[in-house]
This record gives sequence, structure tokens and C-alpha cells, in this order.
Amino acid sequence: MATIHVKRPELTFAEKLYIPEVVKGLAVTTRQLVKNVFTRKDITTRQYPEEKRPYPDRFRGRHRLMWDDDKNVRCVACMLCSTACPANCIHIVAGDRGDDKVEKYPVSFEIDLLVCIYCGFCEEACPCDAIRMDSGKHPLPSFSRDKQRIRKVQLLEEGDFSIARRGGRGT
Ligand code: SF4
Ligand code: SF4
Repeated sequence: MATIHVKRPELTFAEKLYIPEVVKGLAVTTRQLVKNVFTRKDITTRQYPEEKRPYPDRFRGRHRLMWDDDKNVRCVACMLCSTACPANCIHIVAGDRGDDKVEKYPVSFEIDLLVCIYCGFCEEACPCDAIRMDSGKHPLPSFSRDKQRIRKVQLLEEGDFSIARRGGRGT
């Protein structure tokens, strides 16, 4: 394969002095500052968090777990979401619900938000409309890795009733 030599551009004497270039840069900054202060044209400052930007319909926010009619967790601990999760960040411990119709429930349900890539596969895999990503909320910043693990209680706090048919077998 032929080698291509790219010549370095030579600096002029003025450029080597740097001072004229610094002055030119300051002139651009000052011009923009004056324009912004006096015309306020093209300024799109948003007073966040009071003024929130509307998210697109398909925005995926922090997960939430939905409730059944008794306000219990709808999840039946089938593990489909954790199996579909490409980041392996959903950890569920299943327990016996003592109900022939719905055998299992998640004793613990945990999502590591630092590992999650917000792909939405979990909510697509769920046959019960038990997990959703429509909270419209971002993960909260924190200094602790543990605080980024969102657990069943927090997931249920964001929940709501669902009228979807569980696994296509009625509620
Ligand atoms: S959004 Fe994707 S990566 Fe995050 S928990 Fe769901 S399946 Fe896993
Ligand atoms: S796929 Fe749905 S029902 Fe199954 S474990 Fe996940 S959240 Fe629960």
C-alpha cells in the first residue's frame, strides 16, 4: 500500500507570536457576548428543573413495577425480563405466592441502573405488563454505587394499576 505523507502547515510569523491569535479569539468571544446580551437572539436557556423539556413519546425513563387489583406487585417472577436483559442487570428472587392462579411473586426485584443500557427489552419481554419504563424520570445522581441499585419498594412507589391481561390468561 502506498504511503501518503501529509505536510504539516507552516505557521506564519504572526501565528508563531500567538498574541494576534489570542486577540482574534477574544474578539470572537466578545462579539458573541455583546450579541447575546443585547439581542438575546438564538438563546435557548431553559429554567430546569422548573421548566422541563417535553420528552418524545418513546423516551425510556427509570423503570417502575405495576400493581395488580389489590395493589400488590403484578410481577409473577417468570424471569423473562432478566433473561432478555442484555446487560444482565435485573436480579429477581422468586417466592411462592400461595395462589394456584399466580404461583410466584418476586421476593426481591433489583435493577442496577449503572449497568442498564435502557434498551427496553425488559418491558417488551414482560407478559404481564408488570414492568414499564414510562416513568419519565432519569436515574438520580449519587455518590454511592448501591444507591444506583433500584429495588422493589422504589419500583413499586412509581407503579400504578394496570388493566392489561396477565400472560393472556385474564388478571
Ligand atoms: S432496559 Fe435493557 S438493560 Fe435495562 S434492565 Fe431493561 S433489558 Fe436490562
Ligand atoms: S417479565 Fe414481567 S412478570 Fe416476568 S419477572 Fe419480569 S417483570 Fe416479572
